[in-house]
Amino acid sequence: MPTFVYMTRCDGCGHCVDICPSDIMHIDKKYRRAVNIEPNMCWECYSCVKACPQNAIDVRGYADFAPLGHSVRVLREEEKGTIAWKIKFRDGREKNFLSPITTKPWGKAIPELAKLPVPTKEDHDGDYLCFEPAAFNQDEGMHTLATNGLKFKEGVYY
Ligand code: SF4
Ligand code: SF4
Repeated sequence: MPTFVYMTRCDGCGHCVDICPSDIMHIDKKYRRAVNIEPNMCWECYSCVKACPQNAIDVRGYADFAPLGHSVRVLREEEKGTIAWKIKFRDGREKNFLSPITTKPWGKAIPELAKLPVPTKEDHDGDYLCFEPAAFNQDEGMHTLATNGLKFKEGVYY
């Protein structure tokens, strides 16, 4: 479900623009409010939803599985460290979910790339992505199918 912005709530702070990995949250030049310029390219990561201090961003289901009449409301409560999701179905039923959000200060969750050591040739040739395995708290390296004791046979792990 891609995101959209309630322009009357948005104050144009730009946090959603900074955090969007798909670079699709832009500030409208005329109205100085955020807008998702390419909903079909949305990763649905909801980083923008969590980052917005004005609760100005909600999500919208695609018409094929979420027909008209439903709603998804998101409430970010920084003091409590929670994100509350309220799903309303067309028949009036409601489901509510409460999830924790990161408590790290803004901009501190991911180290600045420019301050990281230059990757070695082994880093380039290796299997890990940047921040792995440390980002997963896997001191002994990432788990793989092979290290979990599975055997490879005829193209399939058993
Ligand atoms: Fe960008 Fe993720 Fe928000 Fe989609 S959900 S607009 S990809 S930050
Ligand atoms: Fe608007 Fe929220 Fe984006 Fe700030 S983070 S520009 S308030 S939608």
